Amino acid sequence: MTTLIGQYLMTKSRFKKGLPMPFDRTRLPDPVSYFESRGQKIVGKRGKHFRTTCAIHGGDDDNLSVLRDTGAFHCFSGNCGAHGGDVISYAMQADGTDFVTTCKALGAWVEDGKPPGNYKPKPLPAADALRILAHESMLIAIIASDMCRGIPIDEETKDRLLQAVGRINSIQGAYQ
Ligand SMILES: [Zn+2]
Repeated sequence: MTTLIGQYLMTKSRFKKGLPMPFDRTRLPDPVSYFESRGQKIVGKRGKHFRTTCAIHGGDDDNLSVLRDTGAFHCFSGNCGAHGGDVISYAMQADGTDFVTTCKALGAWVEDGKPPGNYKPKPLPAADALRILAHESMLIAIIASDMCRGIPIDEETKDRLLQAVGRINSIQGAYQ
């Protein structure tokens, strides 16, 4: 019996061709390591949140509060107020890079198992972001439809579902 998921998996490579999809959230650095790698001082490393300087507004105070687990951040400097959901969102705002460039720089972009090559920074066009959202929501709908028909999901599909949620969250973070 060919399930909708089966059909999806069979055409996955075709889907992939037209879409900038090799994003792997699990390869993102943990927030503490990431901010340390930028040379930013970490305050309160053991708590749920830590504080550090905010390269988005360039101040030298420790007004950036970062959630240790997810990298969600908020800058409490009066004129800044920058915020986002993860280190990708932070890097995009601090460095002015687009989503794909940022993911490559963070090592979370793997194309055919190859390390990232040379690429030119350019802003992520809104049309591309919407295309990814449309694709991921279609995928979620297909899986939901199979589940409603009593077809259990396997580990690969579950992981793909989590990846879809990660992608949607990243795009949301990128446009905050
Ligand atoms: Zn700031």
